[in-house]
Amino acid sequence: MPNNLDLLKKYDFKFKKSLGQNFLFDSNITDKIVQYSLPLSKTVIEIGPGAGTLTKSILKLNVNKIILIEKDKSLIKLLQNLKEKNNSIEIFNEDALRLPIWKLGNGPREVIANLPYNVSTKILINLLKNSSQFSKLTMMFQKEVANRIIAKPGSKTYSRLSVISQLKTNAKILFDIPDTAFFPKPKVRSSLVQLIPYENKKYNFNFEKMEELTRFVFSKKRKMLRSIFKLKGGSSFLNSISVNPNIRPENLTLEEFCKLEMALRKH
Ligand code: SAM
Repeated sequence: MPNNLDLLKKYDFKFKKSLGQNFLFDSNITDKIVQYSLPLSKTVIEIGPGAGTLTKSILKLNVNKIILIEKDKSLIKLLQNLKEKNNSIEIFNEDALRLPIWKLGNGPREVIANLPYNVSTKILINLLKNSSQFSKLTMMFQKEVANRIIAKPGSKTYSRLSVISQLKTNAKILFDIPDTAFFPKPKVRSSLVQLIPYENKKYNFNFEKMEELTRFVFSKKRKMLRSIFKLKGGSSFLNSISVNPNIRPENLTLEEFCKLEMALRKH
């Protein structure tokens, strides 16, 4: 097994399932992830660097500033060793969910991460809320989550995450990564997703209200809109904003979601 695993042994490291610790040790794969992120922004933020294989791939390139956010205290010494060799590194031993990542370092900033899957959606939503602060987000997700991020209306996987991600960014799956590339081997498949935030808003909407609306309608996925919005006036309310009352949430376009969100705010 490669170097970084031996390094972990030296630090008497124990893998923690609760922190989603499935590490990449193959530098061919981590180099490929970084290649897809070129050109690198002034500040590169890596969430969950683990044993630092992806970090080392980022450091091979000329990076101005790299900020590492790692929750597991037992990995910090190992990461500090990297810092001793490279003073562009700054380390936060913090929970990424509690840190205002969008304020770290100088812009333009980007995120590159092999995320812990148990908190990946929450982290993504936090970043999307502040998407104007990022030039790009290149992040690994469980394949099912990646498919939801890029799903289009009418598809089975179209969901709250599709709407929110695509309203704020141009999102695409770059490539899949086999489970054999990780140690320990995860039970799920993985895909690398890149999200490029739109510089100018495509549609007018309020982020928090859109989160509420998408959560509400997708919890009633099987119902028609006229029934979901019965208390707001059902068909007549939907017709008044030119939204077909006889369709289900999975058929609503991004534009229609925005029309709905705006009308509900005024209602
Ligand atoms: N980037 C490394 C790699 O590719 O080998 C490790 C990826 S591993 C899937 C996820 C990493 O995120 C682990 O190092 C874990 O300790 C860390 N982590 C888990 N929850 C976190 C959180 N809430 N905030 C910051 N780091 C977290």
